[in-house]
Amino acid sequence: MKYYDKLVFELSKEGRCGYSLRKNDFPKAAELPAALRRNSALELPEVSEPDVVRHYTNLSQMNFGVDTGFYPLGSCTMKYNPKINEEVSALQGFAGLHPLMHAGLTKGALKVYQEMNKALAAITGMYTFTFDPCAGAHGELTGLMIMRQYHMMRGDLARTKVIVPDSAHGTNPASAAVCGLEVVEVKSLENGRIDVEALKPLLGPDIAGIMMTNPNTLGLFETQIEEIASLVHGCGGLLYYDGANMNPLMGVVRPGDMGFDIMHLNLHKTFSTPHGGGGPGSGPVGVAKHLEDCIPDLRVSGFHGNFGVILRAYAYILALGKDHIRKVGQYAVLSANYIKESLKDVYKLPIEGVCKHEFVFDGLVNDGAREGVAGATTLDVAKRLLDYGFHAPTIYFPLLFHQALMIEPTETESKETIDAFIEVMRKIAAEAAEDPEILHSAPHCTPISRPDETAAARNPILKYQDA
Ligand SMILES: *Cc1c(COP(=O)(O)O)cnc(C)c1O
Repeated sequence: MKYYDKLVFELSKEGRCGYSLRKNDFPKAAELPAALRRNSALELPEVSEPDVVRHYTNLSQMNFGVDTGFYPLGSCTMKYNPKINEEVSALQGFAGLHPLMHAGLTKGALKVYQEMNKALAAITGMYTFTFDPCAGAHGELTGLMIMRQYHMMRGDLARTKVIVPDSAHGTNPASAAVCGLEVVEVKSLENGRIDVEALKPLLGPDIAGIMMTNPNTLGLFETQIEEIASLVHGCGGLLYYDGANMNPLMGVVRPGDMGFDIMHLNLHKTFSTPHGGGGPGSGPVGVAKHLEDCIPDLRVSGFHGNFGVILRAYAYILALGKDHIRKVGQYAVLSANYIKESLKDVYKLPIEGVCKHEFVFDGLVNDGAREGVAGATTLDVAKRLLDYGFHAPTIYFPLLFHQALMIEPTETESKETIDAFIEVMRKIAAEAAEDPEILHSAPHCTPISRPDETAAARNPILKYQDA
């Protein structure tokens, strides 16, 4: 029996106590007026300290996290979050600041912004950054507002369309639409790169710019980026870079040098802030020198973004330094290619060749399908991985492949962990070939097996309900 088989929620017993508040020593004058005071005690669970600690620790064990195992989600991967950065962001001198404090008392924080601006400019080749946006998508919106502002300031009002590749992250077209721009899709070639010939006829006086990422969401480097930049600039448009996952490039190449004019970074992916559960994010936006004047008119957040996230990123960059930041991408690329090559005989690899930090399989080579038995799908593989103690990769994204299985190992996993993952992936492929039923009903060893995902999203139960 596992602990969750007996996980109970009704732990309260009258009179039990885990903590006692100190006696009220406020002067009488500071007390709440009688009319505002509650006249019956608040109904709180009465539990001992060990019971509370065990309850929450056991609950936390029912989930999967980077602190419990390998988590190879492609694209939005949780990258390395050094624990020391949590301590840095909690330092009283920083955490205790209030945005309305006298400027003389916030010089340290302002210095962090200045230093971060310099560091990010050096890493990306942009001229300057604004730290106001609080997420990647928020950065995209800000960047597109800058793009629109640039054209408007030049009196070029006809540029209302933005080109987005079909492999793009879903937030790209969404941000463009929110910004009031029309999205025009450009197709990818068989080899996963933008089809430059298909791009050419889309360019014209109505194009505000193009949104791209490089490496793209398939983990592939866009080899024709210089030509794309000159074509888009040639028609009067700007190039926007989605730098949510900048890890494969840091210290090696820079979007600014590739010809990009505007970009955002996800500090909460690439620069060490954990980003699960919609936690605090930061999506600073960088611009080339000729766009500097387009920033100040915009106000996209109350103050200067999420300072705690910026601090963590600062600590991360300083800890790595100029020489080691380069290794982040190199190791991530090595790990991804090692996994890809070790598994491509049992998982379909739609695009051969060297990938960057991530790559996509298109399902199993042998899914076990036979008379009366449905073959194992990507969802089945993902679920079965949980039985073996690994989190699933990103599945069914990007949409270019029906059975997409997108793997990103990051730079911090040891060879032993990666080898164990490869072994399990091979084992699952063998199971599928032999008896896909084992996979259809997986996972077998987790607290819950396959919830109805649609119902869970549509009718979430967000608080405890007494059965
Ligand atoms: C995560 C991600 C985004 C969006 O970032 P959010 O902080 O979730 O808004 C945009 N583009 C790419 C490529 C991403 O991976």
